[in-house]
Amino acid sequence: MNLEDNFRHQGLRRNLVLQLESKGIKDKRVLAAIGKIPRHVFFENALVSHAYQDKAFPIGEGQTISQPYTVARQSELLDVKPGMKVLEIGSGSGYQCAVLMELGASVFTIEFQPVLFRRTKLMLPQMGYRPNFFLGDGSKGLPQFAPFDRIIVTAGAPSVPEPLIAQLTIGGILVIPSGDNKKQEMLRITKNQDGSISEERFGNFSFVPLKGSHGWG
Ligand code: SAH
Repeated sequence: MNLEDNFRHQGLRRNLVLQLESKGIKDKRVLAAIGKIPRHVFFENALVSHAYQDKAFPIGEGQTISQPYTVARQSELLDVKPGMKVLEIGSGSGYQCAVLMELGASVFTIEFQPVLFRRTKLMLPQMGYRPNFFLGDGSKGLPQFAPFDRIIVTAGAPSVPEPLIAQLTIGGILVIPSGDNKKQEMLRITKNQDGSISEERFGNFSFVPLKGSHGWG
C-alpha cells in the first residue's frame, strides 16, 4: 500500500470538497473529513485522477466504493457526534468507515464478502483507522454489540430490516437506501423517546444490493 499524499492529491481533494459543497453538502465536519482522508489510497491500481472524481468506482469482487457525494450525504444524514457507537453495514473499501472515524465515532463495521473483509481489515489500521471489523451478514445487525446510536447501511435493501430498528438506542438513527435493484430511496429512520419510529425520505440513489437474510438473499 502506497500512503503517499502529495500536493497534487491534496489539490484534487480540495476541488472534490468544493464540488460536494456546490451539490448541497453543508455539514462542515463531513466536508473536513473528506478533505482529510486520502481517497486515492483506497484504490487498488491508484488511478489518482479517478479517486477524486465524484463517482463510484469498482473495488473488486463486483463491489464499488460509493460516490463521494453519497458518502457525504449519508454521513450528513447520520448526524454522528464524537463518542457515538456506530454500526456500518457493508465495509467495502473502508472509505465510509474512515469518514465515520474522522467524525469521532466508535465504529463496528461488518462485511459479507471475505476477500473485501480481509483486505480492508488489513488496510484501514495501516492508515491509522481502527474500527471493530466483522465478517458476516450485516442485514441481521450485530445483536451481541447492540444497541447502536447510529446505523448506516451502504448497500441497497429491499425493505428496512426489522433487526436493525431493534438494535437502535432510543433517539438512535438508521440511514438506509431502500428500493429495487436499480434505484433506492434514502431513508432516515429515527427511534423516538416513546419507542415509536419516524421515517424521512431523501431522494434516489443507486447502490449494489444488500445481501443476506434481510436483504436480497
Ligand atoms: N461503505 C463501502 C461501500 C461498499 S459497497 C465503501 O465505503 O467502500 C457495499 C458493500 O456492502 C459491499 O462491499 C458488499 O459486499 C457489502 N454487503 C452487501 N450485503 C451485505 C450484508 N448483508 N452484510 C454485510 N455487507 C454486505
